Amino acid sequence: MTDPVFPRIAIIGAGLIGSSIARAAREYGAAGEIALYDAVEDVRTRAAGLGLGEVAPTLESAVAGADCVLLCVPVGALGAAAAAAVPAMKDGAILTDVGSVKGEAARALSAAGDGRIHVIPGHPIAGTEQSGPEAGFPTLFRGAWHILTPVSNGAPGEAEALARLTAFWQALGARVESMDAARHDRVLAITSHLPHLIAYNIVATAFDMETVEQGEVVKYSAGGFRDFTRIAASDPVMWRDVFLHNRDAVLECLGRFSEDLAALQRAIRWGDGDTLIREFTRARSIRKAIIDAGQDSRAVNFGRNAPGAEE
Ligand code: NAP
Repeated sequence: MTDPVFPRIAIIGAGLIGSSIARAAREYGAAGEIALYDAVEDVRTRAAGLGLGEVAPTLESAVAGADCVLLCVPVGALGAAAAAAVPAMKDGAILTDVGSVKGEAARALSAAGDGRIHVIPGHPIAGTEQSGPEAGFPTLFRGAWHILTPVSNGAPGEAEALARLTAFWQALGARVESMDAARHDRVLAITSHLPHLIAYNIVATAFDMETVEQGEVVKYSAGGFRDFTRIAASDPVMWRDVFLHNRDAVLECLGRFSEDLAALQRAIRWGDGDTLIREFTRARSIRKAIIDAGQDSRAVNFGRNAPGAEE
């Protein structure tokens, strides 16, 4: 338990990420008071029932007096949320977000900025396929990267604001790194956005195939397909916004992916086993590098029990 980094924070959007921040900030003592607001009345009621913090009736009353305002809404809603928040924020407070596309976050938050507050977009590389206030948990950010993409306007206190936001995320257990927003969006396009697009597509293809009985797809969905269905269960609004706002980087990755897929298709068609072995061996070594970097579990099946196995 540390001294609170911020006496008061405001969380806008009480879903998976917002509610996890509230839980972690309280559990690890990173914030004194925690105010929350969500656009949906039912979500506000549920958040209050879960004891996530002081649930405010309006966005303006949540952000009033906060030292740090965290926008935890879909990327497409950042502009409206920031525009509503900034006039109600106190001088010198920090405006940040958790959106998955940082170019758009920088644009939306900067457009709302009025020079009195510090704009520091951010993205936790942590999450699940679930949504809503019940889905959050306090350890979500432990050991995960949190990427900050600061927007500098040379305002006094800028370096101190960045240091405080860094300390806040470290108190939640994250490893914090700063980088350029465009670089973030290129890296995440291949490590997160394209895999989600592929998952949505493979699940759709399997269910559309006329030659495969849908019941069989569900019945025999062991291994690879089942893992794709987990990713494809992610929130449609969140992912629509990611693809609409990281369009160029995703299309660039998709072009290269399609070329590589065509090369595998050709190898299969021509019985070129050497190419298949070469590509599959290379992929296996990348999996090993991810495990060696502590980014995933070495355990079989991600350490997850097979359905029907003993607990
Ligand atoms: P979520 O569980 O769906 O929660 C988002 C909440 O914000 C919803 O209750 C939503 O209401 C509400 N909301 C939407 N517009 C709002 C507004 N203008 N003002 C106040 N509340 C508003 O989503 P999430 O998974 O926490 O994602 C939130 C953000 O985190 C997204 O930007 C996403 O890119 C980012 N992120 C997600 C993950 C992940 O794995 N899920 C990981 C890292 C970052 P409605 O449902 O009615 O829209």
